[in-house]
Amino acid sequence: MKVLKFGGTSVGTVESLKAVLSIVKKSYEAKEKPLVVLSAMSGVTNLLTQLAEDASEGKAFSEGLKLLEDKHFTVVKELLAVKYQNPVFTKLKLFFNEIEDLLQGIFALRELSNQSKDLIISYGERCSNYMVSKVMEQYIPESLFVDASHYVKTDSNFGNAHLNEVLTEQLIKSLYITHGDKLLFVTGFIGSNENGRITTLGRGGSDYTAAIFGSILDATAIEIWTDVNGMLTADPRIVKKAFSLPVLSYTEAMELSYFGAKVIYPPTMIPAFLKKIPIVIRNTFEPDFSGTVIQFDSGKTSLPIKGISSISDISVINLSGSGMIGKSGFSGRLFTLLAREQINVVLITQSSSEHSITFAVNPADAKRAIQLIEIEFELEIQANKLVIPAVEENLSVLAIVGENMKRTPGMSGRLFAALGRNGINVRAIAQGSSEYNISVIIGKEDLAKALNAVHDAFFAELKKTLHVFNIGTGNIGATLFKQLEEQHDFLLDKNDIEIKVVGISNSRKMLFNTEGVNLSSWSAELENNGSEADLALFIEKMKALNLPNCVFIDNTASKLPATYYEDIFKANISIVTCNKIANSGKYAQYKTLRDTAHRHGVDFFYETNVGAGLPIVRVLKDLMLSGDRILKIEAILSGTISYIFNNFKDEASFYDVVKKAQELGYTEPDPRDDLGGIDFMRKMLILARDAGYAVEAEDVELGAILPEACLQADTVDAFYTELQNENAYFEAMKAKAAREKKVIRYIGKLEGGKVSIGIEFVDENHPFYALSGSDNIISFTTERYKERPLVVKGPGAGAEVTAAGVFADLVNVGA
Ligand code: ASP
Ligand code: MG
Repeated sequence: MKVLKFGGTSVGTVESLKAVLSIVKKSYEAKEKPLVVLSAMSGVTNLLTQLAEDASEGKAFSEGLKLLEDKHFTVVKELLAVKYQNPVFTKLKLFFNEIEDLLQGIFALRELSNQSKDLIISYGERCSNYMVSKVMEQYIPESLFVDASHYVKTDSNFGNAHLNEVLTEQLIKSLYITHGDKLLFVTGFIGSNENGRITTLGRGGSDYTAAIFGSILDATAIEIWTDVNGMLTADPRIVKKAFSLPVLSYTEAMELSYFGAKVIYPPTMIPAFLKKIPIVIRNTFEPDFSGTVIQFDSGKTSLPIKGISSISDISVINLSGSGMIGKSGFSGRLFTLLAREQINVVLITQSSSEHSITFAVNPADAKRAIQLIEIEFELEIQANKLVIPAVEENLSVLAIVGENMKRTPGMSGRLFAALGRNGINVRAIAQGSSEYNISVIIGKEDLAKALNAVHDAFFAELKKTLHVFNIGTGNIGATLFKQLEEQHDFLLDKNDIEIKVVGISNSRKMLFNTEGVNLSSWSAELENNGSEADLALFIEKMKALNLPNCVFIDNTASKLPATYYEDIFKANISIVTCNKIANSGKYAQYKTLRDTAHRHGVDFFYETNVGAGLPIVRVLKDLMLSGDRILKIEAILSGTISYIFNNFKDEASFYDVVKKAQELGYTEPDPRDDLGGIDFMRKMLILARDAGYAVEAEDVELGAILPEACLQADTVDAFYTELQNENAYFEAMKAKAAREKKVIRYIGKLEGGKVSIGIEFVDENHPFYALSGSDNIISFTTERYKERPLVVKGPGAGAEVTAAGVFADLVNVGA
């Protein structure tokens, strides 16, 4: 035989009941010998509780009763042929009259005991099972309503009664001997004590009823039909990527359900466990889905953990003081006290110095716990051996669960790395020596972020999501969005990385969408739905959203963003930037940014600060990391200047070439911004610093390309005039190069910690001789690359390659 248990939502509406009927019919016809256990219709237990409480406070309850009637009568009208309806109405009406009488009594007495409450709410299960058994009788005449209170015997702990196993087993077995050939509809949740008074098994207890019947009758399986696809890796309302688990062990299921996964009532596991009967969690609304099997062993799986669960609201109490050290009776007294007063302790940790004990309780119990402790330990507190404990509120517990964690090192490392990287402060930690649960206490405001980050960390082979906040939507920003959109599927399939751009701002507007802005229409969306741009607000909002795996991208060329970088790192957000300002300012700032990023475990990537997408920063970093020593760096890092000198030959005058370069868009609006060498100098400064030298801009020896008069000219036009006036100066340069069979190059150098940039004449043996177009080139002479330097060469400017460089940095975040 098999037990099929349906929860409140499954029997909650006419539609859902149709699904239940078809599932039961199928099982019956397949000769699986089902025994059905039903909950009350959804909302009914709560409603009855409310009515009882209302009555005890002298409030009216007739409207609520009417609601209850309607709920059931609708089902009868819809699912039962007219000719069968009358006797069913009569019987249900009888139930409702009994409820009304009871409420009347409570109303008169203004008193509600747990015993009366149990009696009243027991009608929920009795009505639903009676009604559904009658509906089913139309198709399967052997259907029979069973009031489980006659068979499930308990103690008198009303509201949460404990099973009398011996008696219950006898009664259920004899029930089955007489009626085992029928299709039984058994009320979940309810039982009775030795005097025959109705008791209940605790909220959610219908699952437990199913397990009791299943284990006594040696079922092949106990199927718990609910409204979700089994047990998931995490709460799907918070973790979008949560997925159903095919197999769990009883222990794992127990751990997961104690921590909030309200899919199954935890005590259900015990009878099933003792008889090794599998519990299968299935979805009434998706009957073809196989659901989750809870069985004896945890099943073969490559996943390091099974799931992440949480309790969103708990309070923590910390007891400390010298009085505890070495005192063996201390924790005994403490926890006996709490147990006696029925205060449930969720988690306990004690430091090995024995100087303090921390434990977590439900917020509702916290105050009382403190009062009890103050009374119990009055003497110790007076003698200053114990500090009066304070309650810490607004905390959550997050737990990773799985039997595979046993004897597997690295699990807690992974957990704490994910939390640390995302700036989540851990208040307390507990791991049982059974090693299948590691719990941490964190701030409530961090819970959603923590659940997602930890989910990513453990199920990373599935997906890692980066949340991107991008400022600057000019050439580079726009190109990046285009590339991100084109590569989205590839990244997901091949690299299991999902990149969501959740914030965009340019100088006019800003826009947020935590689901990710649609990158094919970002521009229109920003225009139409964006609010007025405000960098400070943008960053505030980015921090407030508190999303996991966050990256801030600075695709602007402005000065302002850099002033926020430190702050951003402190919020545990990584930065990717093509903006050189931050790295080429004061050395102290450069240093602070690195230290801050490092301290907070986040990334600071800026490959595109030097030579656009060319791998220069990365190569230098790898050389340094691997212990190589930089002896010399030589570089041409201005595509514009490169272009100008490459074309300054034969008949062309310097003036002609600069003019042409400007027309082609290779120069800044004022070509002196390029020819002045400042931009080049910044790049050299960054490289020198990355190579380990604390250099300032003033230390750089910046050789001029232009004569003083050109630099002093007031306007761009005046500059061009000066350029013509100085023609002889440039022609002399050109002639010298031709005479010596050399070319003119503007070369940056780092040697012995000194940075210089200046004009050089190089012959054909020099690696920079053959540079063409607007290419960049850099050569690293190092301890290892001494004979022949390591050279990187290629296009060092342009939106495509720069955006691609930003893209590459982005993908590497968190790698
Ligand atoms: N009807 C009861 C409750 O809502 C029992 C159950 O549904 O499992 O708690
Ligand atoms: Mg339930």
